[in-house]
Amino acid sequence: MTGFKQADGKRVAVVGGGIIGCLTALYLKRLGAVPTIFEKGASGRESSWAGAGILCPIHPWLYPDSFTQLVDSSLSMFSAMNAMLEELSGLKTEWCRSGLLIPMFADDRIHHGEDALAWSKRFGWKVEELDSNQCCEHEPTMSKQVGGALLWPEVGQVRNPRLLAAVRKALENTHVQIREHAEVIGVGKNRQGDVSSVKIADGGSVDVDAVLLAAGSWSGDLARQIGLELPVEPVKGQIVLLKDEPGRVKHIIKHDDVYLVPRIDGHILVGASMERVGFKAGTTEPVVNKLLDATYRITPGLKDARIVEQWMGFRPGSPDGMPYLGPVEGHPGLWVATGHYRNGVALAPGTADIMSRWIMGEAPSMDLSDFRVDRRASNSELVGFPNT
Ligand SMILES: Cc1cc2nc3c(=O)[nH]c(=O)nc-3n(C[C@H](O)[C@H](O)[C@H](O)COP(=O)(O)OP(=O)(O)OC[C@H]3O[C@@H](n4cnc5c(N)ncnc54)[C@H](O)[C@@H]3O)c2cc1C
Repeated sequence: MTGFKQADGKRVAVVGGGIIGCLTALYLKRLGAVPTIFEKGASGRESSWAGAGILCPIHPWLYPDSFTQLVDSSLSMFSAMNAMLEELSGLKTEWCRSGLLIPMFADDRIHHGEDALAWSKRFGWKVEELDSNQCCEHEPTMSKQVGGALLWPEVGQVRNPRLLAAVRKALENTHVQIREHAEVIGVGKNRQGDVSSVKIADGGSVDVDAVLLAAGSWSGDLARQIGLELPVEPVKGQIVLLKDEPGRVKHIIKHDDVYLVPRIDGHILVGASMERVGFKAGTTEPVVNKLLDATYRITPGLKDARIVEQWMGFRPGSPDGMPYLGPVEGHPGLWVATGHYRNGVALAPGTADIMSRWIMGEAPSMDLSDFRVDRRASNSELVGFPNT
């Protein structure tokens, strides 16, 4: 297999079989470690499956610069990650650069135009300003009320279930063990105080040399069991799936709190709510109707699109909207990669690359202090936990 090192015997327990845990396990394997994924249910079924796969943060200018740097670094790895996954799995992730269009209407809740332009210029993101006619030419289903739009032509997307299927196949083909229905309930330490095992809910325990906590929305609860304070909690997001003619909607369209993500076969994801309701599962009629109303207002041309399905997922929220990455002080051998909130797919290759190298002894080349596990993150109203 291209680029895979001989195993050096470092046993790493990866807790959580979402995109963060699975991809980091694959990258660890590539560096010669012997990772095992422990997953409480079936792997790749939670937030990573449910998400929209937009490869760009919503309103990135609201975050500190270090966040954009982390995003940029991760996005620069997407092409190589995709090639590796396709080679190892023989499957397609449907990664493509569909572009992202932000239409602007007179009654927008917040006018982001100037901030978006300034941020794009500062970080070298290609952006085009479209007038109303150009916007409707790009997207014929768009409302004629649109005043203009910004287009980021290079923004990409990936189809989450396909990405996860490819990662899973790649893990199987590289002989990484995935232990499903194996909930981790704690860690054990050796005489020196190093983390040296994971305890499983069925009463078993497995000896390891390092543990990576990548348990998505459940990370806060698990951390507490280990004696750590990690303010990660679920932020529920509901999605409605439409089916239209393939190619009629070309770009991701984002307006206020709603986005439309067109897949190549004519499916269009409409998302997503932001609800702080704990682990209360299921979709609700008012939220689904709100998403549909917004869709028909922004793109009335989609009124005839068939409503196919609806689902929801729990984003691993953090108060400042940014992930926790790195070692845990006072618990040698324990590592964290969680709290990716609304951006875990965009941040997946960057996270996997950084964490796998770090666990294998290579210090990160970028300053990650804004993402450290013991930071005192306060709720940043615009990107952190929602009020309700
Ligand atoms: C509606 C919605 C839309 C989104 N849109 C986007 C987007 O467009 N772009 C983007 O980049 N991101 C998006 N996201 C966010 C993104 O999906 C998440 O940030 C990302 O999937 C987090 O991955 P994860 O592996 O940390 O979590 P998860 O995928 O939730 O995986 C965590 C896993 O850990 C397992 N686990 C938990 N506790 C234990 C335990 N004790 N023992 C063993 N296993 C355990 C869980 O069962 C789960 O499988 C969206 C999310 C949602 C819900």
